[in-house]
Amino acid sequence: MSERVIELVDQRLQALAAVVPAQPILAQGELTDALGRPLHDLRISVTDRCNFRCSYCMPKEVFNKDYTYLPHSDLLSFEEITRLATVFVSHGVRKIRLTGGEPLLRKNLEVLIAQLAALKTPDGAPLDLTLTTNGSLLARKAQALKEAGLNRVTVSLDGMDDAVFRAMNDVDFPVADVLEGIAAAQAAGLGLDSQGRSSGLKVNMVVKRSTNVDQILPMARHFRGSGITLRFIEYMDVGATNGWCMDDVLPSAEVIRLIQQTYPLVALEPSAPGETAQRWGYADASGQFDPNLGEVGVISSVTQAFCRDCNRARLSTEGKLYLCLFASQGYDLRQLLRQPHSTDADLASAIGHIWQGRDDRYSELRASQVADTHPAVRRVEMSYIGG
Ligand code: SAM
Ligand code: SF4
Ligand code: SF4
Repeated sequence: MSERVIELVDQRLQALAAVVPAQPILAQGELTDALGRPLHDLRISVTDRCNFRCSYCMPKEVFNKDYTYLPHSDLLSFEEITRLATVFVSHGVRKIRLTGGEPLLRKNLEVLIAQLAALKTPDGAPLDLTLTTNGSLLARKAQALKEAGLNRVTVSLDGMDDAVFRAMNDVDFPVADVLEGIAAAQAAGLGLDSQGRSSGLKVNMVVKRSTNVDQILPMARHFRGSGITLRFIEYMDVGATNGWCMDDVLPSAEVIRLIQQTYPLVALEPSAPGETAQRWGYADASGQFDPNLGEVGVISSVTQAFCRDCNRARLSTEGKLYLCLFASQGYDLRQLLRQPHSTDADLASAIGHIWQGRDDRYSELRASQVADTHPAVRRVEMSYIGG
């Protein structure tokens, strides 16, 4: 059997300077990029470490004992993250998602959450503060996260069958413990938006054709009517280590077709502009959407690009700003942040300048050049900038 050889280039070393432009860019609560897309969401990675080794994200053969994670001094401190987040919010960010790696591995995360929960948008509204987790530590932490001010969580779970899930996380972690985490999050009220309305807890399932297609229906059955929204994510060609190939992508349209055979669905309107998931509601006997049965979502980042509405910026664990999940380089905000005399106005100007120049639309380009699925330029890993 031939071994898979994975060439690894450390993109973390490559960064573009975050430059303060000569003409200041003031924070005015609204900032659009070169394609007219507003800056609305900020995803902050709080650690590059994880206790799982999902093959589509941190395959064991790469993320092994020889892999060098970022040293602690490289990580942004909570105060630095909050300072940057404040500037992003002054530019119009209304939603912050904490991610990783596994965000719940970052010590005292509740302290950061409390700091971020205190931020207000320019019109005085609280932020929508959420977190994506593999759920392994959620049963222990849900209550403290809620008390610190977290509104919502999204939990990743790739199947109901224990053998399938243990193989996918590749550390033999059982389904039951994730379900316990989900139950704890529900009990703690981690399914409410910043206005206190129920927006439902979300569960994300990455679908890999060769691995967990037979889990789609059991997952749908389990979460239907539970108040939890299950979302199916197309397996993406993020990073350079997961050995992605198009054959392993099950198009979302097929996921919906499969569920429809057992549970009729009706298409729902997007709940917010720039929403990544297409929504489908479970229908009642008369064919109408039944809110009590809830909904599913599909995130079709491979087969149906949604770059046109992409309003998300990503901040890596050591303070690099990425404008696209598939970017190969980030902008080094930490370097600017740690300069002794840099002001928040400098940071706002630099961030404004970077966002105004943004014209990334990788998925759209991938869709129009289907053959180019092996990029010459190495991309950053998902575990490093978060999903
Ligand atoms: N560790 C946390 C978790 O798993 O939820 C947060 C970080 S993880 C990188 C964020 C999300 O990215 C997860 O829902 C994960 O399933 C998804 N993800 C990772 N690699 C992916 C890939 N190659 N294709 C699609 N989704 C992926
Ligand atoms: Fe860890 Fe999340 Fe990546 Fe799985 S998807 S390896 S849980 S960071
Ligand atoms: Fe946004 Fe990049 Fe994904 Fe397009 S490919 S939706 S620009 S993150």
